[in-house]
Amino acid sequence: MISLHASKESRFGGIFYDILLLKMIFNKEVDAMNKTEQWVSLLQSNGCRMTTPRRAVIEVLAASEHALEPLEVFRLSREICPSIGMVTVYRTIERLESFGLLQRLHQEDGCHTLMPAAVGHQHYLVCRSCGRSTLFQGDDLDELLSRVESNTGYRVSEHWLQLFGTCPECQHKPSISEAAKK
Ligand SMILES: [Zn+2]
Ligand SMILES: [Zn+2]
Repeated sequence: MISLHASKESRFGGIFYDILLLKMIFNKEVDAMNKTEQWVSLLQSNGCRMTTPRRAVIEVLAASEHALEPLEVFRLSREICPSIGMVTVYRTIERLESFGLLQRLHQEDGCHTLMPAAVGHQHYLVCRSCGRSTLFQGDDLDELLSRVESNTGYRVSEHWLQLFGTCPECQHKPSISEAAKK
């Protein structure tokens, strides 16, 4: 009786999970598409001529879930538009940055990687292993900030925050040393 109940539940769970997953994928695509169109129209309304190579760069960056270096942006854009050149990649990145659409993530070797800029009070969480970067909402810094202010006499006007860790997928990957043992 108990096992029947459990299997019934897991079957429902499976269907529910599939729908959720589909919804997630669909929403993600819609989000990425919307973002691309938003960025394209913002650039166009500011006098930037939209060419296929520029659009390819925008598509790659607007949809990216991983912090990308310009060279990686170049490689991915070339899959959409084979004739693209590195200069176009750099110029389009510059344009997008000048409109505050991109933000640089801090990594051990500097701040070369790019992600769509956070909107509102959000911060990035970066996977040390694969570079997957996820925004999270807000923080509870009020107590810390008022303590810092009263200890130092400073008036804090802004903060930068970025968290590093290991994403759920990378937590389940065997480490290199474990894989070598097998
Ligand atoms: Zn990862
Ligand atoms: Zn914050």
